[in-house]
Amino acid sequence: MTVTHHPTEATLAAFAAGTLDEGRMLVVAAHLAACPECRRTVRMLEATGGVLLDDLPPVDVGSDALARAMAEIDGGGRDAGLSARPGRGGEVIPGLSPAHQTLLASYEMGPWRWVGPGVSWRQIETPTLPGGRVFLLKAAGGTALPDHTHTGTELTCVLTGAFRHEHGRYGPGDVDEADDEVDHTPIVEPGGECICLVAMQGRLKLNGLLGKVLQPFVRL
Ligand SMILES: [Zn+2]
Repeated sequence: MTVTHHPTEATLAAFAAGTLDEGRMLVVAAHLAACPECRRTVRMLEATGGVLLDDLPPVDVGSDALARAMAEIDGGGRDAGLSARPGRGGEVIPGLSPAHQTLLASYEMGPWRWVGPGVSWRQIETPTLPGGRVFLLKAAGGTALPDHTHTGTELTCVLTGAFRHEHGRYGPGDVDEADDEVDHTPIVEPGGECICLVAMQGRLKLNGLLGKVLQPFVRL
């Protein structure tokens, strides 16, 4: 897995300090599982922050589920020697790395739901963020994802496959951090489907005719 797009330093620092909400923690964790460089940065930030934060009460850093999954991934040396832990009901999502499989295995997930031609999504239930906008997005090769803008930030980590937009190619482990200024149209690379883990703040607004038709049915 060659990772080229990383979270911003501010996001890594917030992860290390435990101040991200659980959805964004999960997306950053998915990146860390694939990126030794950012793991080093986070360890360094945790060590530095630890000195400053020693006297403060501990912060709730998301649910136990995430902490347990991260410990398990650490123990298995990330992908090397880690056997994927299947999700609830023995589910394994095809194409995911063992580390990503293990990370998601701790979470209750809804069924895949149709969003548009070639595109579906499923809700991830994050215990500390009930009803949060954290989901898997799956799109067939060659699909243009619905043109959209949003009122908050959107943090995406590719789990399998790849998409491209004006800022380049995003493959497994790559993170796309978008704010409310961005109006992008990602296109999935032909040849295989792409599954992304997405944490969204604010409201999603789908543009264009398809958006107008779908908006009432897509409660993101
Ligand atoms: Zn990284």
